[in-house]
Amino acid sequence: MIKLAVHKVKRFEDKTKTILHLYNFFTMFVIKQRELYALFPARRNAMKRKKIEFYVEEYRYEELNDTYRKLIAAAKEASKHSYAPYSHFSVGAAALLDDGNIVSGNNQENAAYPSGLCAERVTLFYANARYPEQAIEAIAITARDQAGETIAPVTPCGACRQVLLEAEQRYQKDICVLLCGKEKVLLVKSTKDLLPLSFGNEFLK
Ligand SMILES: [Zn+2]
Repeated sequence: MIKLAVHKVKRFEDKTKTILHLYNFFTMFVIKQRELYALFPARRNAMKRKKIEFYVEEYRYEELNDTYRKLIAAAKEASKHSYAPYSHFSVGAAALLDDGNIVSGNNQENAAYPSGLCAERVTLFYANARYPEQAIEAIAITARDQAGETIAPVTPCGACRQVLLEAEQRYQKDICVLLCGKEKVLLVKSTKDLLPLSFGNEFLK
């Protein structure tokens, strides 16, 4: 009889413990959810996910037209005269202007590193300073290693992408970007593609 009573009490205790555990778990879950909603309100309202896509076209040199081949030759020539005593990474860029003229530039380094400038910006700023009435149609970018060999296509840094975007917006004309390697050329039709969700002049109007 006593044994039965003890057994019943134990079962009651077990049930109480289980209920308490469930209660604790539920409370913790609700609190965690509240914290999550506070951090990510979008989770409460159906979150939208958008995909941003862009295309890169790949060409062999012989597939490009004469104008682009001439532009790339100018960028390669410019890379030979870069001033890169610290990085030994020589970059050349050439911009094709609306009137067919080509201007080129290369990276200019400085012992105070941030004072130097990339080839793309040297070229763009020179083009805009010297020919402010001319929109830029295309820019070719190439780089060479210490042995003077053209390396795989290099892409512009973030700051240069921002300056490219400004030039595009200034003249309201897409700038075609040619990233030139030893054997292949990657072509992007607008600098906007290189800088998704960019900050541009539309925010300052
Ligand atoms: Zn740059």
